[in-house]
Amino acid sequence: MSSQPFQAFEPPGPAEEKPHPVVPQVELPPSRVHNPMTHTAVPTEAISDAAPSDPPASVAASNRPMGATGRPMPLFPDPPPRETHGPGRIIAMCNQKGGVGKTTTTINLGAALAEYGRKVLLVDFDPQGSLSVGLGVNPHEIDKTIYNLLMERGVTIDDVVLKTNVPGMDLLPSNIDLSAAEVQLVTEVAREQVLSRVLAPAIPDYDFIIIDCQPSLGLLTVNALTAAHGVIVPLETEFFALRGVAMLVETIQKVQDRLNEELEIDGLVATMYDSRTVHSREVLARLVEAFGDKVFHTAIARTVRFPETTVAGEPITTFASASGGAYSYRQLAREVLERCPGT
Ligand code: ADP
Ligand code: MG
Repeated sequence: MSSQPFQAFEPPGPAEEKPHPVVPQVELPPSRVHNPMTHTAVPTEAISDAAPSDPPASVAASNRPMGATGRPMPLFPDPPPRETHGPGRIIAMCNQKGGVGKTTTTINLGAALAEYGRKVLLVDFDPQGSLSVGLGVNPHEIDKTIYNLLMERGVTIDDVVLKTNVPGMDLLPSNIDLSAAEVQLVTEVAREQVLSRVLAPAIPDYDFIIIDCQPSLGLLTVNALTAAHGVIVPLETEFFALRGVAMLVETIQKVQDRLNEELEIDGLVATMYDSRTVHSREVLARLVEAFGDKVFHTAIARTVRFPETTVAGEPITTFASASGGAYSYRQLAREVLERCPGT
C-alpha cells in the first residue's frame, strides 16, 4: 500500500482563469498611438534618385542596422560648433517614479552636450541633492542653494551657481532645504512660476538648462514644467515602468493648458536596457507602439559603471570616457541636438 495521502481529483472550475503572468495592461493616451512600422517607410523614388555618395536621410536610415527600439538606427552626425551661446532651451528631466535614471541622465546628457561645445546649466531640483552629490558637491557644505534663489529676494543666480569639473557645465545645487520650499511656495503669489522667473536671467548665457526633478508630481515638479520648453522622460526598461506614464502625460497636458502653452515632450528615453533579454526588447516595442517617434532611438544600457560614477562624483563621459555608457549619452546628446532646432 502506498503511504501517499489520497488526493481527490478536482476538475478546474469553469470561471477560474489563470492571470497572465507578465504583461500588465497599461493605459496610454490613444492620441499618441503610432505604428512603429510606418515611421520608417522609405519612398521607392527616393531610392532610385539617390546618388551613391549622398543618399537622402531616409534611405540612409533604411540601410542602417536595427536599433534597440526596433527601428533602423539613424546616424546622428556631430553637431556643428557654436560661436555664440543662448538663448537656452530649458528641459525638465521628469518622471514621478524614483530610480529611473533622471539624475544619471541629467548629469551625463549635460556633460555630453558640454563636450559638443554647448554651455550647460544643470539645476538640482530634488531636495535629496543627488545631482549635486553626483557632481562631487557635498550638499551640507554649500552656502547658497536653489532654495535661496527661489525664496529670498536679492539672491541671484551668480550667488548660487557652481562650476563643475566639466568645462562649460555649471550647477545650481540643492540640498534638503528645498523640501521646505514645497510647503512655503503654496502661499506664494504665482506659485507655479517661481522657478521660471528665477531662471529667466540665465537663458541668454546657456544653450541648455536641464532641471533634474524630484520623483513626484508636486509643486516643485509643476514649477519645473512651467519653466521648461521641453520635457525628457527617462524610463526604466521594464513593464511596470509604463505604469504612471499616462498620469505624467496628463500632468504635462494640464501644465500646457493652464501654465505653459509652449511646453513640448522632447522625448522618452529608455534606461537600464538589457539587450540580452526578450523582456527589454518587448518593453521598448510597447513604448514605441504607444509613443512613436517621441521615443529616442538611443537606449541606455544597464551597467554598473553608472553607480560607480556617482561614487566618483563625475559624469561617465570623463570617468570612463570610452565606455558604452559614455558613447550612449553622447549619442543621446546628438539626438537631442537634432530634435531641438536652434540648439
Ligand atoms: P532617479 O534620479 O530617477 O531617481 P538615478 O539616476 O538616481 O534615478 O538612478 C537610480 C540608480 O540607478 C542610481 O544608483 C544610478 O547609479 C543607477 N543607474 C542609473 N542609470 C543606470 C544604468 N543605465 N545602469 C545601471 N544603473 C543605473
Ligand atoms: Mg534623482
